[in-house]
Amino acid sequence: MNDDCVFCAIAAGESPSRTIYEDDRTVAFLDISPVTRGHTLVIPRRHADDIWDVEEDEAAAVMRTATRVAELLRDALQPEGCNLFQATRAIAGQTVFHLHLHVLPRYDVSELQVALGERSASAADLDAVVEELNANHSGRAGT
Ligand code: 5GP
Ligand code: ZN
Repeated sequence: MNDDCVFCAIAAGESPSRTIYEDDRTVAFLDISPVTRGHTLVIPRRHADDIWDVEEDEAAAVMRTATRVAELLRDALQPEGCNLFQATRAIAGQTVFHLHLHVLPRYDVSELQVALGERSASAADLDAVVEELNANHSGRAGT
């Protein structure tokens, strides 16, 4: 547990939350400032800063819980769709530095803008990225 982490405090039951699902490894609770009705955050109980810090098994547990939560939200609130979102580091919009996956039920296209921006990559650009990735297998990527 990270003493100055608000989500660690929620996971430990030391800070109040509207928890809708929990198991040994994960907790899912309503976002305090929801973008859509039922907006839920899924976290690992064990502190990890972000997707570059988390153990793969913990990340898998978070995804399994997100799948269950998406189903709970669908059955109870009847959204028409759903987005999953995760921000790693401030540049990507992260504001709480304990890994969390947003589960966002969708009712209306206007409630949330999902804009990935202009597309300009050429086939050569894409090939160059694959080349760089293949030349750099030092990370934890699979074989
Ligand atoms: P991020 O921008 O890091 O991806 O998302 C952080 C989210 O955590 C925000 O949507 C914010 O509303 C939510 N949040 C921040 N503090 C608390 C809190 O104390 N309790 C709950 N339930 N949500 C929080
Ligand atoms: Zn934490």
